[in-house]
Amino acid sequence: MRQTNLRIEANKQASEVLIVGGSAAGLFAAYLLAREGKRVRLFDANDVQHTASRTLITTSRLTDVLGFVPQEAIVNEINEIEIFSRQRSVTIPMRQADLVVERAAIVRLLAQKALQAGVEICGGCKFLNLDPGGGGVTVTIHDTHRDRVEKFKTTTLIGADGTFSRVAKIADRNGHETTPILQAIVKLANGARPKTTQVWFQPEDTPYFYWLIPESQKQAAVGFIAEEGNKAKSKLAQFLSRRGLEPVEMQAARIPAYTHTTRPWRRMAGADIYLVGDAASQVKVTTVGGLVTGLRGAKAAADAVLQRRDYLKELRPLRGELSLHLLIRTILNRFHSADYDRLLGLLNQKTIHLLGLYNRDQAARMLFRVLLAQPRLLKFAGSLLRGIWQK
Ligand SMILES: Cc1cc2nc3c(=O)[nH]c(=O)nc-3n(C[C@H](O)[C@H](O)[C@H](O)COP(=O)(O)OP(=O)(O)OC[C@H]3O[C@@H](n4cnc5c(N)ncnc54)[C@H](O)[C@@H]3O)c2cc1C
Repeated sequence: MRQTNLRIEANKQASEVLIVGGSAAGLFAAYLLAREGKRVRLFDANDVQHTASRTLITTSRLTDVLGFVPQEAIVNEINEIEIFSRQRSVTIPMRQADLVVERAAIVRLLAQKALQAGVEICGGCKFLNLDPGGGGVTVTIHDTHRDRVEKFKTTTLIGADGTFSRVAKIADRNGHETTPILQAIVKLANGARPKTTQVWFQPEDTPYFYWLIPESQKQAAVGFIAEEGNKAKSKLAQFLSRRGLEPVEMQAARIPAYTHTTRPWRRMAGADIYLVGDAASQVKVTTVGGLVTGLRGAKAAADAVLQRRDYLKELRPLRGELSLHLLIRTILNRFHSADYDRLLGLLNQKTIHLLGLYNRDQAARMLFRVLLAQPRLLKFAGSLLRGIWQK
């Protein structure tokens, strides 16, 4: 085993905001804080300029939350979604296009903005530990480039270190559950529709769905959320082969499942510790989209720090929406193929129009309007909910 000779260095200004995690949520929080004059230091275990690629689809809400259009990161725009159950299909034209973004590009863009705003970014700096004491907390970092351990004192720490957040584990022993997600990049055949996302409900394989998200005329991301990680690869391979699709690259990871028990804020020894993004499981559990919601969490944390406001209050609208997604997920988890056939069968012209008018980042409004337009959907959901509660 290699002998590491680590030096301990004590540091410095407790007034500095420290952020652990330099992906979308951490960099966005850093940028928002530094832009308003806060001293911000951000640590990431890896080099933030070389984040792994990942194809993500978001609603148009992405640009509203960011406050700018991340043009360099947008690889495609989607204007309709086609949904399949075993016996039916429905096409929903969308009023506002969904954006297909490249994660590495959006991280690079946010890193540039954070650096320009004055954030000190330390790549190759792994967060090790957190200790209370002396009017704040002390954060221990292993700087792998210089091979030494440094300690930083702060009264404001933001944990944006993703699904397996160590900050969350130490600050809030609760943690959260995770689910595996598997995605293949495939070549598209001539004649494929590059502006259409496709979704297949196949509850015998997954309580979620399979998706195909075109990145361009030539390439798409096809994936699903697998409850049993060990069978995920073979299920996706079967799905691809049934559709004549060849994988050219695989993307896999685990994503957190939002629950009511995650505590995104904690006070420790006079310091405020905020969790944002996947570290706070700010993910819509209907679709497992976490980019927009994680950025909203980052913005809420930055606002709480800047305005000295209560983070939990700032988070209320987001938590309300995430809870609604959780309720919908609880219902969908009970669905069999016949239920999806019935659901699609209940969608009439008016409800299809409404589903295209609103998006999944406006779930409450969408659901309210859709249920009003098609009360039989309410009856259907009610019967499934009764089934759950009677269990
Ligand atoms: C295959 C796949 C497909 C997805 N598709 C979509 C999609 O279509 N739409 C969508 O909205 N969302 C999607 N998601 C979810 C989305 O990618 C995440 O919700 C989002 O990227 C989370 O960002 P984050 O900044 O919170 O965390 P992450 O991107 O996970 O970043 C965490 C950062 O913390 C760093 N870190 C971790 N531990 C330490 C440590 N100890 N010390 C220092 N640094 C540390 C890591 O290096 C990393 O840079 C997908 C996820 C996967 C896996």
